Amino acid sequence: MYKIISGKEISLAVKERVAAQVSEMKKDGIEPCLAVILVGDDPASRVYVNNKKKACEFCGIRSLEYLLPADASQEELNSLVEKLNDDKSVNGILCQLPLPKHLNEKEVLNLIKPEKDVDAFHPENVGHIMIGDYSFLPCTPAGIMEMLKYENISLDGKNCVIIGRSNIVGKPMAMLMLKENATVTVCHSHTKNLKEIVSQADVIVAAVGRAKFVTADMVKDGAIIIDVGINRNDDGKLCGDVDFEACKEKASYITPVPGGVGPMTIATLMQNTITAAKIQKG
Ligand code: NAD
Repeated sequence: MYKIISGKEISLAVKERVAAQVSEMKKDGIEPCLAVILVGDDPASRVYVNNKKKACEFCGIRSLEYLLPADASQEELNSLVEKLNDDKSVNGILCQLPLPKHLNEKEVLNLIKPEKDVDAFHPENVGHIMIGDYSFLPCTPAGIMEMLKYENISLDGKNCVIIGRSNIVGKPMAMLMLKENATVTVCHSHTKNLKEIVSQADVIVAAVGRAKFVTADMVKDGAIIIDVGINRNDDGKLCGDVDFEACKEKASYITPVPGGVGPMTIATLMQNTITAAKIQKG
């Protein structure tokens, strides 16, 4: 019998905790503020930015939105980041990815001050994560850890297999799982015997970006399945990387899409924003 891990429910608990902290901070004259930069009009990015804005409203965090045209220059974007870096009323800066092709993502991410880097993508913050001594954690992997904690799932000694090695999901996920004493394997597009490796996992994290990539024959009985993917199926409906209907029967826990990892990513962003405000106010 499987249990669905509800990101909706857990993210609400996280946001309520953040909202309570924000109201205490406001009594001390601190109003956390998140600035979000969106370049161009990619519809999926627009949805993410709107969801972040709604979460800020829920938590009592001031949110600023900067919309730049799709043909904005690198100089325009960089100078906006520098302006927000210098603005003491702004605690967190997030540049919505992906950027249009002519812009250099790395240059922008490296420009955001590490103490305002609520996505934890700056090399300095990435380094802190490597050595397990950090202020911010990347939102998606940290949201997943929060889900596991909420369900009282210990990773100690577990065999965790992550599919995907991106800088924003797969790699930091591996670091966080290692810190919790898991044995971690990271698979990617060059991995041989993927099915064999995944079928030995106690915990599977799928972050590939392909619908129905994880099939039931890859899942060990009783495995915990975390689905990070966001895809559209043939009917245009939102779905993850896991063949949910077939895999759930073999799982002990499974996250749905939508309503799983996605809301946790946003809740962690809220948490990171108030952490940034606290750090900046000393
Ligand atoms: P990415 O494109 O940067 O990385 C995909 C990874 O999948 C790569 O490391 C690649 O090696 C691996 N891969 C591709 N084909 C493979 C194969 N045949 N076998 C094994 N591995 C293979 O993607 P990303 O940014 O990590 O995102 C992954 C998915 O997660 C996407 O669907 C994205 O939309 C979603 N996502 C969701 C959230 C959320 O909050 N729910 C956050 C970030 C990303």
